[in-house]
Amino acid sequence: MSILTEPIGSIPRPVELVEGLKAFASGAIDQQELEILQKRALKDTILRMEQTGSPVLSDGEQTKPSFATYPIHGLKDLDPNGVVIPFKDGHTRQLPRLTKGPFRYRQYAADFLRTARTLTSMPVKQAVISASALSLLYPAEGIEGYSQAAFIQDLLDEQEKDIRQSLEAGAHNVQIDFTEARLSLKLDPSKGLLKSFIDLNNQVLSRLSASERRHIGVHSCPGGDHDSTHSADIHYEELLPLLFELNATSFYLQFASEEDHRAVLEVIKDSLRPGQRVFIGVTDVLSPTIETAEDIRELILEASSYIPMEQLGTTDDCGFSPFADDLSTSRDIAFEKIRARVEGTKMAEKKLQRLQVAF
Ligand SMILES: [Zn+2]
Repeated sequence: MSILTEPIGSIPRPVELVEGLKAFASGAIDQQELEILQKRALKDTILRMEQTGSPVLSDGEQTKPSFATYPIHGLKDLDPNGVVIPFKDGHTRQLPRLTKGPFRYRQYAADFLRTARTLTSMPVKQAVISASALSLLYPAEGIEGYSQAAFIQDLLDEQEKDIRQSLEAGAHNVQIDFTEARLSLKLDPSKGLLKSFIDLNNQVLSRLSASERRHIGVHSCPGGDHDSTHSADIHYEELLPLLFELNATSFYLQFASEEDHRAVLEVIKDSLRPGQRVFIGVTDVLSPTIETAEDIRELILEASSYIPMEQLGTTDDCGFSPFADDLSTSRDIAFEKIRARVEGTKMAEKKLQRLQVAF
């Protein structure tokens, strides 16, 4: 029995690429020049992730504008003034809002995956944005001639397509980024919004077969941008019992940066359903301190007294840079943290295997 370990997705882009994106936005370089920088970043990221020993890779989201906006990047029928997401340190991120239907993705995640798979023979996972996050694009005042119900049908079709294409392109797992789950409890403590998000995402999952759903995971976290969060003050006991109602197999949860690990493990133990696997975050992506493999081993051993080994995995707390312009964590630190996760997971696995033999 082994303990699975996977990254969440994003790796800080090289400074040259971040500068290149700015130069492209201002018209100083053209598309071709930008693509050269992106290709170089992607190749280097995959090589360095392989070198960490990680058994599953991601493309580091080097060519995604952000984890949430890749499907709508460059779409015409958008107004920049949509929902605002405030972070604890005072900075904000803002989603655009849709001005016209019908809603169609401009880019699907499988495009990133196909490119990544030409650069490695290792398994590659693919993150997709949740239908619930993109449901926030529809403006509160409505769109003339395009009802919210019609928008939701289009959204469900598009997200199903995004997931299916990634599965068909050979994704090891498809991870639905559901970072707004915990945030929704802040916006609506009655949990009505969270329940509606879960219902929407389950509508997409119900379109997949049971064998397809074995390759579907969900990532939840309190946000991780510029070393700050948007909803870490919401307790997991409010979120997890509902989160595990999602008909997905794997759950990638921010965990290392939680203050009370035991309390979180108790809730996971009570809420995790048979056939589900929880990948706990063992590296704090908001802290520059690199965890030691020994510390990570201890964290996993603690978790193993609450979660059966066959339902336990490890991951990073979040992507290291979910937005392309975030350089708050360096690439070197990100790869060292991943290396520590892989080593610490192996150490815990060996110890638990020895204990199994002993009993
Ligand atoms: Zn996250």
